[in-house]
Amino acid sequence: MRTAVTGGAGFLGSHLCAALLERGAHVVCLDNFVTSEPANLTGIRDHPRFELIDTDVSQAAWVGGPLDAVIHLACPASPTDYLRLPVETMRVGSSGTEHALDLAAKKGARFVLASTSEVYGDPLQHPQREDYWGNVNPVGPRSVYDESKRYAEALTCAYRNSYRVDTGIVRIFNSYGPRMRPNDGRAIPTFAWQALSGRPITVAGDGSQTRSLCYVDDTIRGLLAMATTSYPGPVNIGSAEEITVLHLAELVRQATGSRSEIVFVDLPENDPLVRRPDISRARQALGWEPSVSLADGLARTLPWFAELWAGRNGHTRG
Ligand code: NAD
Repeated sequence: MRTAVTGGAGFLGSHLCAALLERGAHVVCLDNFVTSEPANLTGIRDHPRFELIDTDVSQAAWVGGPLDAVIHLACPASPTDYLRLPVETMRVGSSGTEHALDLAAKKGARFVLASTSEVYGDPLQHPQREDYWGNVNPVGPRSVYDESKRYAEALTCAYRNSYRVDTGIVRIFNSYGPRMRPNDGRAIPTFAWQALSGRPITVAGDGSQTRSLCYVDDTIRGLLAMATTSYPGPVNIGSAEEITVLHLAELVRQATGSRSEIVFVDLPENDPLVRRPDISRARQALGWEPSVSLADGLARTLPWFAELWAGRNGHTRG
């Protein structure tokens, strides 16, 4: 088994590459590090079955030799990143996806697109099933991400129908775990960093908006399950456990033993108010469901942030 992972140096990508190596696969990672740290690859970079190609997949995505699967993760994924890189985000969703699909087509490989719950926008149906078409503002600030993923899904279907490429689409809901960047703007890293540094924990709006948070190992199992079937999807991959953002902030504060106060800030424009996947299809088609509770996932994640914080600040918290 030889698998190409675009965006393989990112948060999800680095965990995916490691999981593939553990399963005995050869892994070719294509990444330009636009939103990731090379340190994410520490531990696998020198692995004999791991190869890194430093490339912008919006320009080209070529790998010599045979491939069984192309898993396309390359894309700025956090709001901070895609708002900073709007055109690059559109390009990697369009040209980058096209190059990754061409690569799969030429190699006769399975192609898996890492799409997102953001294709549902601010959903009018709850929980979100895959047959819901979504509620996206095409000219809102988040549209660069949402629409590039919607385009990527459409292009994936076009390659499947016109060129008979074996494709699969997963719609990933919020995932978390070690190696998220503290400043990436997503809830858990933000709260963890604020709690660890004793600064106020900033909750958007009144904190009653909900999220469903899936531990990274579960997300990776879902991606791998999709890579090893011929099921086209789309399939939701996420946790069905829903939590308000305020409750999440309280959990993080408690688990880190922080005395930070919780303060309320403006809700970003077009921020979804509810978010929870219906995962019946994943259960049926992939035999997949999450196995790590939020409490366990936080217990595996927060010590990683604490270590990072201590490392950057030159001491351990007392
Ligand atoms: P990330 O930013 O940590 O990783 C993305 C990786 O893609 C980075 O290593 C980045 O350098 C690379 N990249 C971006 N543009 C590139 C380009 N043009 N050429 C080559 N490499 C490029 O993000 P992540 O959280 O690991 O997300 C990975 C994928 O999963 C993304 O496609 C994202 O949309 C999707 N996803 C993630 C989540 C989540 O909760 N993490 C949720 C839904 C969907």
